[in-house]
Amino acid sequence: MHSPKSKNYYKTLGVNPSATVQEIKTAYRNLAKKYHPDVNPGNKICEEKFKEIGEAYDILGNHESRKKYDLSNGYNVNKHSAPKQKKEQAKQAYNHQKTTDTQKTKDPEKEKGFFSDLLGGMFKGEAEEEKKKASSKSKKEDPPKSKKQKPIKGEDIYTDVTISAAESHNGTVRKINILHTEKCKKCDGKRLINDLPCMTCEGNGELTTHKKLNVKIPAGVKNNSKIKISGEGNKGINGGENGDLYLVVKVQKSTLFKFDKNDVTCEIPITPSEAALGAEFKVPTTDGSVVIKIPPETVSGQKFRLIAQGLKDSKTNKKGDQFVIVKIEIPKNLTKQEKELYHELAEAREYNPRESLFDE
Ligand SMILES: [Zn+2]
Repeated sequence: MHSPKSKNYYKTLGVNPSATVQEIKTAYRNLAKKYHPDVNPGNKICEEKFKEIGEAYDILGNHESRKKYDLSNGYNVNKHSAPKQKKEQAKQAYNHQKTTDTQKTKDPEKEKGFFSDLLGGMFKGEAEEEKKKASSKSKKEDPPKSKKQKPIKGEDIYTDVTISAAESHNGTVRKINILHTEKCKKCDGKRLINDLPCMTCEGNGELTTHKKLNVKIPAGVKNNSKIKISGEGNKGINGGENGDLYLVVKVQKSTLFKFDKNDVTCEIPITPSEAALGAEFKVPTTDGSVVIKIPPETVSGQKFRLIAQGLKDSKTNKKGDQFVIVKIEIPKNLTKQEKELYHELAEAREYNPRESLFDE
């Protein structure tokens, strides 16, 4: 019935498909004045609008071309002051037209319904504006009586949030940035200001905005689990409730810590001299670091217990322990001097740690 390419000239001029010749003329004159390049030098949006307005008026301003346009787009033909019941048809066509005009989607099937309703709502908004105007001017035909638009819930938003293994055990709070749609405050979601498309939202009635949220991620959260934040998705349509926001939690695997309930174990390298002489050094914990002291003659694999440095139990609030297993690591690329010193050490004591192995 109508090609998806054809533009909605009525919308461009901000008039109803049943507008009179005079109404179209007036709308064109007002818009042309507003968007004229001389008035808005260098403004690309205005320039584009001005062109669109001219194109729309070329068609709708001429009886013959308007008739053709109406015919090929399913508008109520001939009578441009149509009786009421016909206007419903015109509205349907108008709405349908918009759905075919709009394209920006991941899921065409779903989006079609979405935009159809969204734009149906737009028509309603325009009709209401018309009503206001009519009552203030006291003239004018009745606006088309639109059926009550079905409220539609806004789209849900999914966003990933990555947390450490320790955070997944302990729970954490994350500040996240989301992009979602909100009602345009400039036109209060009505899409039109003084019968002209709202420039802030470009007549959409909604804006895509950034929002910062503090989200509590509970203890014990598993990789890929979803946290629902109600009402923070995209804006609902026709008074429908907002969509929801889902955080998809990605838990990083820890290369350092191993978890056993609330106890944490990690392996920490030490040097031969630290092992021999004892040392004091910092070790990481799941929520910071702590200084530990190892005694002289510490052996490789020795385990040290750091009391209450493990994870907090979400029910009892009691903390588990952290176990530190030390591993002696020999530095690589020994210098000549280091080698000499190791020789000296070897000579200083005749020590064979494997001696007893052959006693049995
Ligand atoms: Zn707006």
